[in-house]
Amino acid sequence: MAVTADVIIIGAGIAGASAGAELAASARVIVLETEPQPGYHATGRSAAFFVLSYGNAAVRAVTAMSESFYRSPPAGFTEVALIRPRPGLFFSRSDQRAALASIHDEVPSLRPLSADDIRERVPVISPDYIDSGLLDETGGDLDVDAILQGFLRRLHHRGGELYTGHKVQELSREDGLWKIAAGDKTFMAPVVVNAAGAWADQIAILAGLKPVGLQPKRRTAMLIDAPKGLDITDWPLMVDVEEQFYFKPYAGALLLSPADETPSPACDAQPEELDVALAVDRFETATGLEVPRVIRRWAGLRTFAPDKTFVVGFDPRTNGFFWLAGQGGYGVQTAPALARLTASLITGSPPRESTSERADIKQDLIEQLSPNRLITCQ
Ligand SMILES: Cc1cc2nc3c(=O)[nH]c(=O)nc-3n(C[C@H](O)[C@H](O)[C@H](O)COP(=O)(O)OP(=O)(O)OC[C@H]3O[C@@H](n4cnc5c(N)ncnc54)[C@H](O)[C@@H]3O)c2cc1C
Repeated sequence: MAVTADVIIIGAGIAGASAGAELAASARVIVLETEPQPGYHATGRSAAFFVLSYGNAAVRAVTAMSESFYRSPPAGFTEVALIRPRPGLFFSRSDQRAALASIHDEVPSLRPLSADDIRERVPVISPDYIDSGLLDETGGDLDVDAILQGFLRRLHHRGGELYTGHKVQELSREDGLWKIAAGDKTFMAPVVVNAAGAWADQIAILAGLKPVGLQPKRRTAMLIDAPKGLDITDWPLMVDVEEQFYFKPYAGALLLSPADETPSPACDAQPEELDVALAVDRFETATGLEVPRVIRRWAGLRTFAPDKTFVVGFDPRTNGFFWLAGQGGYGVQTAPALARLTASLITGSPPRESTSERADIKQDLIEQLSPNRLITCQ
């Protein structure tokens, strides 16, 4: 006997969980996840940052549409703050001034800082290294676990079901329904949402569709000891203006990343020693400090479309196959708006909590995110 639903979502990362929670307000939803627990891949490995000035214009628009959810979550969603203020600071050496100017042109609201301003905030930055910077005061640390659990609770309360340990292995369309073999069960629904992160193109292939060209890219992160004798609590997120490395306070230590973007097959990504060494070297060069040890290291896959813009919408080559993929390095900070857009496009009605939201999402943005732009042979 097949288990039936209105919508089946593949993947229980932040994308699948948030879309499931939204859709369950008006549809019978099932979420299928390969791993024994949700959020095991990219979602559980992020740097947990929210910054309005990050990414291209489409990404920034979707981030802005997610902000109110994180600052004032709906009643019952969480008992803890989902976002804690922390500015983002793009910093540059003198040879990187052109890159800094270009960011400022794109986001004029960023506040210029001198080398002294930056050293006042982050005294370990060496005066020989630093030239200037731009401050984004809207940034913050996200509580990714609380966000993921909040969406999953909401899915459950609205009658949705999550099947962990159920890897989707077959996907075919028969008599107006998608038939999905996952684990030891068969699931059927008229609509399937592809929220499989790094595996999203593989899910398309299972459904008999050509992939849209998503590329998973490995990114490494690590924790190092906070410099002795300094209170790092209020340091900003420090991002090299050409995104060669970044660091920020994290649970009493410093989270450091070489901001690597190494193409990778979809897999359980692991950190490479070379990337760890690169990050440590860049941090030591910028600060003159020695990093005596790396406390913990990890890596995850950020999955990008060729234009680094999300892929959200129905696939025009078949019926009922919806893409929610290509979240790149912004999938946590944009999840609330992408989930509402997904629910709105699938149900054709405005989302429950924000009746004006559908109208707020401008048609040209919907078109920019649509998979149509990536599909040449239909
Ligand atoms: C080091 C690092 C730092 C980052 N920092 C930030 C940040 O500061 N802010 C931010 O917003 N974003 C950040 N990101 C990006 C963010 O983590 C991702 O954009 C986001 O988590 C993507 O969510 P997802 O649900 O699409 O993917 P995932 O979390 O990878 O979820 C996809 C799920 O689909 C499942 N799946 C795949 N195939 C199948 C199948 N056949 N059947 C069933 N299930 C399947 C997988 O098991 C997986 O759980 C960072 C990422 C990394 C790696």
